[in-house]
Amino acid sequence: MTEVLVPFDEVVEKFDPALGLEIHVELNTNTKMFCGCPAVFGGEPNTQVCPTCLGLPGAMPVVNGKAVESAIRIGLALNCEIAEWCRFARKNYFYPDMPKNFQTSQYDEPIAFEGYLDVDVEGETFRIEIERAHMEEDTGKSSHVGGSDGRIHGADYSLVDYNRAGIPLIEIVTKPILGTGDKAPLVAKAYVSAIRDLIVALGVSDARMDQGSIRADVNLSLAPKGSGVLGTRSETKNVNSLRSVERAVRFEMARHAGILLGGGAVLQETRHFHENDGSTSSGREKSDAEDYRYFPEPDLVPVAPSREWVEELRATLPENPATKRVRLQGEWGFTDLEMRDTVGAGALDLVEQTVAAGAAPQAARKWWLTELARRANDAGVELTELSVTPAQVAAVQALVDAKTINDKLARQVFDGLLAGEGTPEEIIAARGLAVVSDEGALSAAVDKAIAENPDIADKIRDGKVAAAGALIGAVMKEMRGQADAGRVRELVLEKLA
Ligand SMILES: [Zn+2]
Repeated sequence: MTEVLVPFDEVVEKFDPALGLEIHVELNTNTKMFCGCPAVFGGEPNTQVCPTCLGLPGAMPVVNGKAVESAIRIGLALNCEIAEWCRFARKNYFYPDMPKNFQTSQYDEPIAFEGYLDVDVEGETFRIEIERAHMEEDTGKSSHVGGSDGRIHGADYSLVDYNRAGIPLIEIVTKPILGTGDKAPLVAKAYVSAIRDLIVALGVSDARMDQGSIRADVNLSLAPKGSGVLGTRSETKNVNSLRSVERAVRFEMARHAGILLGGGAVLQETRHFHENDGSTSSGREKSDAEDYRYFPEPDLVPVAPSREWVEELRATLPENPATKRVRLQGEWGFTDLEMRDTVGAGALDLVEQTVAAGAAPQAARKWWLTELARRANDAGVELTELSVTPAQVAAVQALVDAKTINDKLARQVFDGLLAGEGTPEEIIAARGLAVVSDEGALSAAVDKAIAENPDIADKIRDGKVAAAGALIGAVMKEMRGQADAGRVRELVLEKLA
């Protein structure tokens, strides 16, 4: 089916978008939600399973206390009420990745409810109301082999790995998010980003969207501008990057508008997102009245966290990431743009740690956002995955400050650090990178450059100081980059004064 996609400007002129986001956070507990199986990512398929998470007859589940603790901390960080008493429920459905034929989840009694999170988009604050955050278990993972795109359609056969079945999840559900207008795609992205930051600050998950430890389902509907009603929504499932969240909203807005302006009706359904072109395609039809025959889980006791415990956990909450950002920006003297770039590059913590290790904030920012960001990009990894530590970056900058090396040589030190050649000092010694501080050698190189470039030298003698750059360049080349450019400049100007 060919879709009519309406240009974004026209969509927001004629319609009000309503967003709804469901985020699944995989907790980083040592063990699964209801059994003692390890909950680590990446084991050989079906090696981290037991009778309980496979749903074998007679196996009895036990709630993971650490998961409950993480759920409460997430709820508190989202300004939620914490239930005094709540239960798990069985969500009954058959699907091959769900070995028990039901998922143990929470239904009408979530552990946390009625919260909010404020997000900033281009200087405007949007309050996202949280309906609930509840505990549940993850499903197994199916892979479909033989098809062109990993989908079940066209596949020769399917495999299922139950290692993930039973890993604790927290599902965070928003209320409908209204009034975002043309900022809807950015608000959705900012919200998921804020949740991720919060989860990282709480330390309750690996928070790796690319590995599925944070997954977002993006609901979108459009209503005629100013009508105040809610339109029929689509639900784009398992969007796994911040950029994709924004693109999915943008695409769905254009698609819904195309249907509505053409006189059609939007189908309430799940959609798949396609990274390659930012489009979505139809999944399965979904009605609100889908009957999972929920009922209270009879094999588990209710969860009744004492108020004392809840208050103890409240005291463990980290500084709110948004508040922290404002504080750090003030301490570092960064402009809004510098701060936004730092956050956008995922370098906030790295810069903070580099500053804590003694580097000036601007120097820390410079290395992480230029040299190291480029290398991470080339290697296709996150900045945090580079084998260079904040302490090493601070050590390299200290050597630059001491004029042992210059910025250009520092880049070669980073090469050495990434190649595991030892400490910055060892790399400088082994690679012979220290700047030449021998004034005699520097002076001779400057004299040589002046002699070889008489026209430029004359210009500088005539007061055209800007021409000095060419001579400095010639000296630096002669010294194979191993000179202090500032000192070379002083020498050039002294000799031609
Ligand atoms: Zn198990």
